Amino acid sequence: MNKKIITISLILLCYISFTTLHAQLLTNKPTFTHADTLRGSLNENRSWWNVLYYDITVTPDIINKEISGAVTINATAISKGNILQLDLQQPLIVDKIISKGNYFKVVNGMKESLPTIQHNYQFQQKENIVLVTLNETKQIGDIFSITIYYHGKPKEAKTPPWDGGWIWKKDYQGNPFVSVAVQGLGASAWFPCKDHQSDEPDNGATLKIVVPDSLVAIGNGKLIELKKLTNTNLTAYTWRVKNPINSYCIIPYIGKYKNFTDTLIGMKGELSINFWVLEENVNKAKEQFKQVKPMLHAFEYWFGAYPFYEDGYQLIEAPHLGMEHQSAIAYGNNFKNGYLGTDRSGNTGWGLKWDFIIIHESGHEWFGNNITAKDIADMWIHESFTTYSETLYTEYFFGKQAANEYNYGQRKNIRNDKPIIGYYGVNNEGSSDMYDKGSNMIHTIRHAINNDKKFRNLLHGLTKKFYHKTVTTKQIENYINSKAGFNFQKVLDQYLRTTQIPTLNYRIAADNKTISFQYTNCIKGFNLPLWLNNNTTKIIFDENGKSNTIQANQTIIKEIENLSKLYYITVEKVNR
Ligand SMILES: [Zn+2]
Repeated sequence: MNKKIITISLILLCYISFTTLHAQLLTNKPTFTHADTLRGSLNENRSWWNVLYYDITVTPDIINKEISGAVTINATAISKGNILQLDLQQPLIVDKIISKGNYFKVVNGMKESLPTIQHNYQFQQKENIVLVTLNETKQIGDIFSITIYYHGKPKEAKTPPWDGGWIWKKDYQGNPFVSVAVQGLGASAWFPCKDHQSDEPDNGATLKIVVPDSLVAIGNGKLIELKKLTNTNLTAYTWRVKNPINSYCIIPYIGKYKNFTDTLIGMKGELSINFWVLEENVNKAKEQFKQVKPMLHAFEYWFGAYPFYEDGYQLIEAPHLGMEHQSAIAYGNNFKNGYLGTDRSGNTGWGLKWDFIIIHESGHEWFGNNITAKDIADMWIHESFTTYSETLYTEYFFGKQAANEYNYGQRKNIRNDKPIIGYYGVNNEGSSDMYDKGSNMIHTIRHAINNDKKFRNLLHGLTKKFYHKTVTTKQIENYINSKAGFNFQKVLDQYLRTTQIPTLNYRIAADNKTISFQYTNCIKGFNLPLWLNNNTTKIIFDENGKSNTIQANQTIIKEIENLSKLYYITVEKVNR
């Protein structure tokens, strides 16, 4: 190889490396492991069956920080199959897997009940999954159940609720105060399940928690059985949630709890409310939790009926800050307003008027628990709407100006580090901007709709159309576009899929009589409509981001300068 060729090769090599590096910088795609794919995608061993019901029994060994349990999974075949992928994270150990009870089989189009035959199933535990081989191929419509016995030392959470795992704390008097937080980490950190958000148990779940007699155990939904186990110092609390539930929301709480109750007369009738707190906090809780009923009324106004009347509403003191566990919300905000006493909207003051954890985590009952994203890449569906529920709550009690200020104040938390939507199929969440930027995006779209009745109908429509469903971003986008009276796709693309903040350039004509507008720093076709003149003049944009012209005057110019307070854009005057 002569010198010239070597030089060309080197240049070419450098060029290829540079372009690869450049592409990597542009996409900044993280690397994903085989375990991420097994967990995040619906492969052939997960997609043929649909979970109907989880029946979970767990006995924690509080001293040794270990658990033992049995989980019966009731499922139906939606296509033929005989190998199931269950998720169960290391270092938990499966002891045996058997079939249990009667099950149904489809014979000549009819469901027939079969007698109880116990089978021991072959299984293989590797990485964070368990592959179970059934004794026969299930046919479409078959209903079957398997029971998994397991034990071990589950991952312990170091900084719950952010890292996830079991939380083995003590209360002020030294009594055990134990719970679990597994959003992100996944329910398979403590019980075997299909750990994918697309498959919620259609008929809910039962959670039986076995604890020492001196302690109380709480779960989701309603207490259906309280049983002292004979010849032991143990009591079993059995809780039942009737509605479909995210597996990460199924949570035990164990401690020296006291209970007080209330009833809401809401949009669907009587809703039972249960509060559970440690004994020393009863008085503080009775004061702070007065916010719950007005909050539920406010959210029913904006979003429609509370989605889980059958299961009640519960707020439970937890050994961590808080989490949206369905019909069993975790609370740990020190019985103070704000977010641990601080205002997440900067110094607007509105964030200190109410308890962040009560409001935000309860908002998730509508967005997150009622409507759930199938893939966690689409977690904005949970967090953007729920973060926006804070603005709506503020508006309901303190008015529109307060809501605008609160929403604008949240912008200081926006990072624009990466897109809000994550990578699909690999158990990957997008940017934490799904909270405050997502909330600002919804507020922006609301102002562009410029019709509060239509906007509220849109929110009610979402919670009705996708009632107790798992969804994709596309479904939510299509619904918004079909009901908003405008196709917001380019706007959604801009805020969910890029990190640029559009700039609105405005130009005053030489004769000072008219003003025209142009969007820059945005995707092609970005066309967010704007309203001026006290919401009577609409500015519309073509596919090149150019607007119609409007009459210029001093009041309008001032209004234009303030548009960035209502719409998440920057505004710049362009000289002629
Ligand atoms: Zn949240």
